[in-house]
Amino acid sequence: MRLTQYFLPTLREDPSEAQIISHRLMLRAGMMKQSAAGIYTWLPLGHAVLKKIEQIVREEQNKAGAVELLMPTLQSAELWRESGRYDDYGKEMLRITDRHERDLLYGPTNEELITDVFRSSVKSYKDLPLHLYHIQWKFRDEVRPRFGVMRGREFLMKDNYSFDLDFESAKRSYNNMFVAYLRTFQRMGIKTIPMKAETGPIGGDLSHEFILLADTGESEVFCHSDLLDLDVLASDIDYDDVQSIARIIDQYTSLYAATSDMHDAEAFNRNVPSDKQLSARGIEVGQVFYFGTKYSEAMGAKVTGPGGEQVAVEMGSYGIGVSRLVGAIIEASHDEAGIIWPEAVAPFDIGLINLKSGDSDTDRACEDLHAKLQNAGKAVLYDDTDDRAGAKFSVMDLIGLPKQLIVGPRGLKNGSVEIKDRKTGAREELSLDAALNKLTT
Ligand code: ATP
Ligand code: MG
Repeated sequence: MRLTQYFLPTLREDPSEAQIISHRLMLRAGMMKQSAAGIYTWLPLGHAVLKKIEQIVREEQNKAGAVELLMPTLQSAELWRESGRYDDYGKEMLRITDRHERDLLYGPTNEELITDVFRSSVKSYKDLPLHLYHIQWKFRDEVRPRFGVMRGREFLMKDNYSFDLDFESAKRSYNNMFVAYLRTFQRMGIKTIPMKAETGPIGGDLSHEFILLADTGESEVFCHSDLLDLDVLASDIDYDDVQSIARIIDQYTSLYAATSDMHDAEAFNRNVPSDKQLSARGIEVGQVFYFGTKYSEAMGAKVTGPGGEQVAVEMGSYGIGVSRLVGAIIEASHDEAGIIWPEAVAPFDIGLINLKSGDSDTDRACEDLHAKLQNAGKAVLYDDTDDRAGAKFSVMDLIGLPKQLIVGPRGLKNGSVEIKDRKTGAREELSLDAALNKLTT
């Protein structure tokens, strides 16, 4: 992609409305633009990252046996009256009336809708367990939308719903999602810590929030620091192997971790050696929740059990903040010059910098490298503008592509170009072939 043909409206100045670094950097890097409070247009660079994150979420959901569908953003109020939540939800729900005076709402979540989908087609225990998910925009009329996409009003969420015959099976569904979440986040280059979360009136300990540690996080958290060293991608995963899944859950839940709502200072001090006590701030990027028969009872989602009896299905729901993750990853990965994208979510793999656009040798070398890298399957953003070299360097650092390939007339005289690693800042001078080789293998 040539920068002269792309749309990258970067800002030179720090936008005054942004309070935290990810919001500032997303605006400066031309990733998004606010269209109303808490509602954003995703510009091409931001959109590319959003899609990368969405795809990793999708792959790990599918791998864990969940099946994708797509429910609408607008829902009928009727379903929410059945569950009793139409009145309970309060002002966060955006309520809409259509031309026939029917009540609609912009979905803040989808338990009711999915339960309706389920009850109209699934009648037998033989069709269980079932995991359905979608990746769809939500609307919550937050009192104080802030921090850019981290607390928006319109935001993209992956929400998954599990249906099981009994508690044992529901617990397996929960455990599978728990592990799928660890894998999902680690693939994005971030480490999250599952922390016990409040379950409301249902009780039990079957809810966890997945927290990314960052100074600007809204939650205060406490945990054993060894949790940060666990590596869930070290071995392959088999979701049918109940024991090995349980072992992973055990590894993560046997060490202390809690948000301030659930924190027990006495237990923390008793169970965690003082040099391992980590108290920090964190961002909730996902939550898993088992809630039993709350919706299936209220809405009559029942199946025929093995003995012919009618059983209300056991349910769970599992959310990931796809659009929040874009900001959260930046909070965890940036420096004073800008964003540092982990490779898996970078909008392009390589930024190609032409130090002297208009110089025929340099242009030719850049065109050639651009074509060869693209042929090798690399996503390249080629800065072919006639901006000054200094300005090009700052834009590339700002937008945070993992590698920069720097090409200028002086180096080309000796047949060499430079590769810069955005994360370490290390620069290396190489021949054209060696550079290509390095960037494509
Ligand atoms: P929070 O406590 O941050 O308000 P929540 O617990 O109400 O979030 P859930 O219902 O658990 O949110 O939604 C699942 C995920 O959706 C959250 O873990 C979070 O990552 C994301 N999310 C929730 N609210 C927002 C929002 N206003 N803007 C962006 N992402 C959000
Ligand atoms: Mg939550």
